[in-house]
Amino acid sequence: MIAALDVKVTLAEKSKLEGVSLEKIPFGRMFTDHMFIVQYENGSWQQPEIKPYQSITIDPSNAALHYGQSIFEGIKAYPTPGGEVAIFRPMDNFHRFNISAERMQMPTVPEEIFIEGMRQLIEIDKAWVPQYPDHALYIRPFMFASDDAIGVRPSEKYTFIIILSPTGPYFTAPMRIYVEEHFVRAVPGGVGYAKTAGNYAASMYPTAKARAKGYDQVLWTDALEHRYVQEIGVMNVFFIVNGKALTPSLEAGTILAGVTRNSVITVLKEMGVEVEERPIAIEELLEAYQAGQLTEVFGAGTAATISQIKELRYKETDMFFNPEDAPVASAVLNKLNAIRYGHEADTHGWMLGV
Ligand code: PMP
Repeated sequence: MIAALDVKVTLAEKSKLEGVSLEKIPFGRMFTDHMFIVQYENGSWQQPEIKPYQSITIDPSNAALHYGQSIFEGIKAYPTPGGEVAIFRPMDNFHRFNISAERMQMPTVPEEIFIEGMRQLIEIDKAWVPQYPDHALYIRPFMFASDDAIGVRPSEKYTFIIILSPTGPYFTAPMRIYVEEHFVRAVPGGVGYAKTAGNYAASMYPTAKARAKGYDQVLWTDALEHRYVQEIGVMNVFFIVNGKALTPSLEAGTILAGVTRNSVITVLKEMGVEVEERPIAIEELLEAYQAGQLTEVFGAGTAATISQIKELRYKETDMFFNPEDAPVASAVLNKLNAIRYGHEADTHGWMLGV
């Protein structure tokens, strides 16, 4: 049971929704009428507020802008057949948020602020949940340092905000992926497992280089030997080899522990597919491909759920996959969607009603 949360609510005078269609809107461009905001000061969380969505003022000396103490999460809420709204696995994102907070020397956020704040905000902006197939309400909780002072040290003040963005089907065409052997995303002992802004900033230059060569994203490899695969863009990665699912294990702390990744593993096992979480060498994948055993490659993440990979480029070798013939990926996608849109019983307790 989540403790009650006393939120100061100021409603928008007029909704921005009037006359707006929520069908097929692009990802991350439209935001709802309200936002949730709370400050951390003097060692404690202050009065949480829900207020009209608006700009925030930032002092030029704001610590997050200079030193990057900034973390976020990405979650989706879905319309249910009964006209209600349910959030997919928000407790998992809540736990991951606080893991990120600890790594970045930021205060952890209490469950009632993160979960109950999100629930109350969605309740107020319920009309923004798109009622079309494959649409959802994207939830973006984030926290950043708010000290107005230059100098490298942990900030004393922080701001935690939740904003909501209705989103259409996030279709990604099957992707061409470049196996990256020069740049690295994460190192053991580093921040790869944290959902922190700098990880995304650092990925842009290598990704732009791969794009210039005609690829959509890079598949990161380990920093020490460039031998073991990690993840792709903002997705975890799965390989189907001889009917078995392989995905990189998390113990090195170099991969974000995706909520979709965990859900895919659960669903695969229930479908009777054997899953191995372990270090996966690119050479092993190449051998399996050449033997005709590597049949599907797909990414897993909140934005698109499952993204097909049609090509992996490793050194001078191209591995090709047929996205039209990907029975495992499509079965997993159908199963997850059935649970999320309430067409199938939520036997795992994944959905939190608003
Ligand atoms: N890896 C990275 C680097 C990501 O940013 C994301 C998106 N949050 C994922 C994997 C997938 O995680 P999730 O399934 O929780 O969205």
